Amino acid sequence: MSVSIALDRPATAAVSRTAPAQELVRLHAVSKRYSPQLTVMDQMSLTMQDDERLVIIGPSGSGKSSLLRVLMGLEGIQGGQISFQGREYIDGQAGGARKLDPKLQRQIGMVFQHYTLFPHLSVLGNLILAPTKVHGWSREKATERARQLLARLGLENKLQAWPSQLSGGQKQRVAIARALMLEPKLMLFDEVTSALDPEMVIEVQNVMMQLAEQKMAMIIVTHDMHFARHIATRVVFCANGRIVEQGPPEQLFTRPREARTREFLEKVV
Ligand code: ADP
Ligand code: MG
Repeated sequence: MSVSIALDRPATAAVSRTAPAQELVRLHAVSKRYSPQLTVMDQMSLTMQDDERLVIIGPSGSGKSSLLRVLMGLEGIQGGQISFQGREYIDGQAGGARKLDPKLQRQIGMVFQHYTLFPHLSVLGNLILAPTKVHGWSREKATERARQLLARLGLENKLQAWPSQLSGGQKQRVAIARALMLEPKLMLFDEVTSALDPEMVIEVQNVMMQLAEQKMAMIIVTHDMHFARHIATRVVFCANGRIVEQGPPEQLFTRPREARTREFLEKVV
């Protein structure tokens, strides 16, 4: 593999940036309900700069996946607003009706826990599908970008492979490459290593660390607190649809302020 970033070396935040950090995402009082009884985001507000890597932690069912799916535009919201790069992206005030700016949505990539590759398409076919069919790229341009990305992720010899011929770790790396095709400004990762064997966890985490070194803004949901500590610039602990506490990984993991956070960390670490 061409990627080998040691996990015991913490990713330093923004070492060699030329431009000053800018606001990337702003959630203002966002509410998300699946039913009147089930509120998974309760007037949640959160801002993120473009040089940050947020890790979201919290109990199962606390709304972490919902938050990412909302940001990706896959779920509507019932209240509040979300801006992206300072522009209005999603507006939830119209009684649940969704107002979303697709140009901004295109700047966000997402990778899920379970490989979502299309089984009937080759690796190359998976990567170029949306760019060519939805975004009007030429096949040549998309193929060239796919080649570059796969090489970066150590998968240059898998271009023509079928998903069924790949290991779990390779599938997740292809899913990451596919999410990177349109050159997103923000990447969302929802428990992308939870279903993998330990040796494959590392290869996928190495790719994420590589993206971190390249200053990709990311929001990561993970139960792997060791990885969280290494990749995060900020950790956000959510419970019951609210942000209980957030801070730099050093502080949150070693000196949590809230009893609720301590209780959670004692269970998972
Ligand atoms: P987490 O990722 O933190 O485990 P989720 O966002 O997946 O939490 O889910 C939060 C709550 O919302 C859970 O109780 C879950 O069962 C419920 N939920 C998630 N998706 C849906 C859906 N599409 N319809 C109804 N309820 C849902
Ligand atoms: Mg989840």
